[in-house]
Amino acid sequence: MDIDFDLIIELQRLDTELHNASLVLEGIPRLVQDVDKRIQATTKLVGDAKDKMAHNQKNRRDLENEVKDLKVGIGKYKRQLNEVKSNKEYTALLHEIEETQHKIDTIEEAIIAEMLAADDVEEEIKAALHKQSTEEDLLKKEKLVLDEKMKETEARFAALTKEREALVPRIPREQLKLYEALFQKKGGTALSPVTGDFCAMCHMRVRPQMLNELRDRTTVILCENCGRILYWTTKPEPVKAETPAE
Ligand SMILES: [Zn+2]
Repeated sequence: MDIDFDLIIELQRLDTELHNASLVLEGIPRLVQDVDKRIQATTKLVGDAKDKMAHNQKNRRDLENEVKDLKVGIGKYKRQLNEVKSNKEYTALLHEIEETQHKIDTIEEAIIAEMLAADDVEEEIKAALHKQSTEEDLLKKEKLVLDEKMKETEARFAALTKEREALVPRIPREQLKLYEALFQKKGGTALSPVTGDFCAMCHMRVRPQMLNELRDRTTVILCENCGRILYWTTKPEPVKAETPAE
């Protein structure tokens, strides 16, 4: 099978780039979601602190109303003091007044505690608002960058697709079928350059008689180990850096 390697190498390049672009496109919505979640978290922080303040204020109002009621009670007891007939009743009323005053003192202490707590909550609200205003700006910028990347990648994907559509009709049908079958089977890499005398994908040594045929770049030769279409290349493909031996 005669083959124009330049076309099929170009097809592999386009498919690899399309695959990479589609990975970026698939990944971006999740990243945007993460940013949104972080924005929501800062908003929630402010909301929680404000809820705490509302709760504190309600507690204070309730306690203050309680004090008001108790004071009304004391007023009543005091008026009754003038009307009692016996010492025993008088002592009992005094005792009631004392008890009630004691309750008021306790509640007023609780009110002071709530007021002190309110100062802390006020600080908490301030801190949450500060965090929100500083982080939200950054997060919104992050979203803009992601939006931009999405648009760029979509445009790139469309351009690559167009290039591929123009290229495909120029490749003989049979070669295209072989390429596409291998592309599916071999995890998106149907071709493998031969550098030195090794298949770059599986590192299998290519037999010397095959190397001569590969140098001609006219026939389809599949790697005897990984089954990919081999092609001769003069410049070595970039290889991942290996961990240096210790
Ligand atoms: Zn191979």
